[in-house]
Amino acid sequence: MNTSITIGPWDWRYRVGFDERLKQNLENSINALEYSVYRDLLLKQIELFSSFVSVSQLINHFIKEENASRDTAINLEGKVILFVPKFLEQEYLQALEKSKNIESRLKKELALVINAGAKNSYYNYNIDIFRLIFGHYLSALLVHANDEYTDVFTEESIRSYDITSVTKEIISDIISNPPKQLKELIKYVPSFEIKFKDGQGFAEYWAKGMLGNNNELIVMINDDQLGYNNLKATIAHEILGHAIFYNLKDLLCPSFFDHGAFAFIEGWATWCEWNASDPLFARNLRSSRCRTLKLLDMLDPEYIQEQIAHEISRLGYSEEVAKTSIEYFFQYPGFGQSYTLGALWLEARFLEETPMLFFNNLKQLPWGDFFLLW
Ligand SMILES: [Zn+2]
Repeated sequence: MNTSITIGPWDWRYRVGFDERLKQNLENSINALEYSVYRDLLLKQIELFSSFVSVSQLINHFIKEENASRDTAINLEGKVILFVPKFLEQEYLQALEKSKNIESRLKKELALVINAGAKNSYYNYNIDIFRLIFGHYLSALLVHANDEYTDVFTEESIRSYDITSVTKEIISDIISNPPKQLKELIKYVPSFEIKFKDGQGFAEYWAKGMLGNNNELIVMINDDQLGYNNLKATIAHEILGHAIFYNLKDLLCPSFFDHGAFAFIEGWATWCEWNASDPLFARNLRSSRCRTLKLLDMLDPEYIQEQIAHEISRLGYSEEVAKTSIEYFFQYPGFGQSYTLGALWLEARFLEETPMLFFNNLKQLPWGDFFLLW
């Protein structure tokens, strides 16, 4: 039996800014990593992510976790409070006010943090983050990313379809006709339960042990499930992407695994999504994602918000999706763009090496956002 060090919290990057105990635990795990270059790279990532505080994550931490009030003392000395757009300031203050988990003294303190974020000038962390993750590859990825523009792909809404049967039809289609480069990996799709839920979002895949005792695909039911191709891309992302990934991880048992490695985990799933889609639709998915990379070094928060809202509505999604995307851009720096840059890096890598070979070669190495070392 191999021993493996795992960093469990998938969202540690946006919590280390205010949770000293989590930071300490992460550093202890990382110090057990035998390769010093990997250790140093991850410690640098922790240093950068702990230099700022995600107001969204901080507020949610106290709202959602019952014992948070007692457990976490907020000490934000020397930390940058991430910029909070005006509409989010209002939303956060209201959510805070409504919360029954938080005592009034703490509420006042948190309200001050929210206000401070709204008053702060904006600093764009993306380049700092991605330079750490991709190093010298970053500029090549950006050059390669921006060269393609396509028209909006419109398709018939699936609102009138039976979502259960469409989902099952798509899954069997994906598994019986996988993209060429994924043929030899298809045997690693594990068995999983399918669940449907009302609410925001598209779909989620939870590997056994993360949420329950089974592998689960959860498909969200709402008006943002636009059309057949869109749903197919979503399911390919979850099943070819996440389900195969977590299964391979368990089988190959790397000596180290970071659940918070978004560029690796989401980049792979995004690459799968692009490759399993109809070529015309895939070009659209890719170019739309690449377009948002133009925001990586932008400094005007108003302009950034306009651009995100414009792109989201152009694609046909609701205002809720636009708001969430804006929130993620400002409060979870690097998260959304990790999908795209990770996928572009893998796309370039898979010109020389098949995905199967890539994972097999990775078997001996720690798994995380270590592109720069691979
Ligand atoms: Zn994903």
